[in-house]
Amino acid sequence: MANLGDNCLLARKKRYNGRMHSETEHRPVVLAIGGHDPGGGAGIQADIEAIGANGCHPATALTCLTVQDSCNVSQLMPLDAEHLTAQCEAVLEDCTVSAIKIGLLGSYQAADGVIRLLKACPRIPVILDPVLAAGGGSELASEQLLEKIRDQLLPLCTLITPNTQEAVRLSAGGSSISLDQHAQILLQLGCGSVLITGTHDESDRKWVINRLYQADKQTLIRQYPRLPGEYHGSGCTLAAALAARIGRGESLENATQTALDYSWSCLQQGYRTGRCQSIPNRWFESHSNNNR
Ligand code: PLP
Repeated sequence: MANLGDNCLLARKKRYNGRMHSETEHRPVVLAIGGHDPGGGAGIQADIEAIGANGCHPATALTCLTVQDSCNVSQLMPLDAEHLTAQCEAVLEDCTVSAIKIGLLGSYQAADGVIRLLKACPRIPVILDPVLAAGGGSELASEQLLEKIRDQLLPLCTLITPNTQEAVRLSAGGSSISLDQHAQILLQLGCGSVLITGTHDESDRKWVINRLYQADKQTLIRQYPRLPGEYHGSGCTLAAALAARIGRGESLENATQTALDYSWSCLQQGYRTGRCQSIPNRWFESHSNNNR
């Protein structure tokens, strides 16, 4: 682990000696840690687009490469965990990072490296999208990785954004308890707040119901009309938008509202590039300007 210093206890190696930036030029930096999807629907590319569209600068560190198309993931190739932490350290030593977004970790070793790094940066908000399986069904997390996330990563997170299936798996509370009870277990495991998204809960055909749980606060419920079809990278889009909004200093409640509104619009204006899942249109605002 690198030297200890200020913002995140990681020392700034380089100081910028050039022209000072004006207020309007300032863009908060959000570090996205995740995997690469060559189809550009999910993973780091989704993060770059959503963080940029929400007014922040995306810095990125790759955990793994994948082979996948719009239907499913067929291969996952973890990158060396030391290279992963070196990528993160290079960003953290150079920039003031306003939020860290974590997506697909891809290996136990990557999780271990990220956990050590987060412990050295206790003041940076951490938003975790616990990616456990691909939309097409492929497993993306071993039992060992799941336990590592549950026991050691969750306590370092400001906010986690599981869908209903991920919430059930992560809490390990079994299938007989309610969603509220799963959320309470996740809070007790130590994360600051839990946003359970309703995209994968098809018991309600008309609405997607999202619930934000915070200790000692009333659950915030936000529902959106359920859109037809399936989307690749919707979870990444939401968590990255949340990280950008939190990185810009919005309260958790405001960030939740703006990021959910943004993500729903991305899906509503989504488009198809391949045979299966659609891609969220994360640039819908600039696309509509270009078409004028
Ligand atoms: N990140 C990568 C690299 C992936 O391959 C996937 C799913 O396949 C995800 C994240 C999660 O995608 P989604 O937001 O659709 O859950």
